[in-house]
Amino acid sequence: MREIDKIIIHCTATKAGREVTVEEVTAWHKGRGFRTIGYHYLIGLDGKISAGRPEREVGAHCLGQNGHSIGVCYVGGLDERGQPQDTRTEAQKESLRGLVAELRRRYPGASVHGHREFAAKACPCFDVGREM
Ligand SMILES: [Zn+2]
Repeated sequence: MREIDKIIIHCTATKAGREVTVEEVTAWHKGRGFRTIGYHYLIGLDGKISAGRPEREVGAHCLGQNGHSIGVCYVGGLDERGQPQDTRTEAQKESLRGLVAELRRRYPGASVHGHREFAAKACPCFDVGREM
């Protein structure tokens, strides 16, 4: 098993209200040269959690952090004008909290971060440190 010390949160950087499927993200990531979707989980607008890359496999979501982390992504992150915004629905917030809690039970000691802590990006467009 991989040793996991971080859970890293992302957004799809798509506009509020637009649903995105695992298949769609997989196509984007393949287009960028990845083998498959880079995230381990994707949380849809309705809060549905879809599995992406298996947890045992190294993800492709956060440069320099992939080897020891799990990548979780919610759908959204941009407002109507395309500017960064916390667009999470209540269902997404609830699913995200539940999933992170479950991952922390399974990977005791893992810390929770937003992508922007490791890159000059807005992702995931909310303050993970404050919330988690
Ligand atoms: Zn990200």
